[in-house]
Amino acid sequence: MADPQKRPAPRPQKPAGSSARPAAAGKAVSPRPPAGEVGAPATPQYESLIPRSTGLRALLAPVGGFGVTLSNMFRKTVTEQYPRETVPTKPRYHGRHQLNRYADGLEKCIGCELCAWACPADAIYVEAGDNTPDEQYSPGERYGRVYQINYLRCIFCGLCIEACPTRALTMTNEYELAGPTRAGMIYEKDDLLAPLRSGMLAAPHPMVEGTTDTEYYRGQVTTATDAQRAWVREQRPDDPTLPEGAGLEAANVPGPTAALMAEHVAGARRQGGAR
Ligand code: SF4
Repeated sequence: MADPQKRPAPRPQKPAGSSARPAAAGKAVSPRPPAGEVGAPATPQYESLIPRSTGLRALLAPVGGFGVTLSNMFRKTVTEQYPRETVPTKPRYHGRHQLNRYADGLEKCIGCELCAWACPADAIYVEAGDNTPDEQYSPGERYGRVYQINYLRCIFCGLCIEACPTRALTMTNEYELAGPTRAGMIYEKDDLLAPLRSGMLAAPHPMVEGTTDTEYYRGQVTTATDAQRAWVREQRPDDPTLPEGAGLEAANVPGPTAALMAEHVAGARRQGGAR
């Protein structure tokens, strides 16, 4: 029986730097000290590529940063008086989206949903509808029947406009997007459609005679034709975009969400001005 008082003899310690594996028979092994210990290969010194300052320059270097502060202290102060005064944005500013039209008034959106797929914030929702002879909203087979942008989610990155194959979707410079309700921040198609301009007829109406969607994409359609006007006159005699109609001002009524938001922003501006 083993004596419990008797301890086993300690195992001999390996010298520092020795390999854990036994040396191969007949092969001399030189012990290599681990990194950081005396005798380890030296780490190369870091050499800055920026030349070191010397003389007066080196003396003033610690206070050099104050030069920026001092030079700005004597510049004219520019404080924007928003919302009392609005300042124009840069031309390429990413603001509210717009769904564009062709020159005859047909919509450019074909409901392909590429913008919704490209959106990293999942802010866009599109449902396509089929164009029919009685209800043609865009050149080709399909149009954007439902189009929504949730401005509580949108980060204005512009990836949606890069994805759009027909340049239907672009961004305006409008940045005053604020509303009193969450639901009111979801813009519908009516809120996003570009205003009708001179020479356009409100959709739906047939495409220009003898054209396909290719002519539209190539910009070869420049205005609404008499045949299109005759069709609209027959279907919607009160249409304000007809030459004898009430005019573009009556036709370009903002959608309910856009109108509510414009009212809210105008109220906020009045409040800001009254302060
Ligand atoms: S806006 Fe452009 S990308 Fe989005 S559904 Fe319409 S056509 Fe497609």
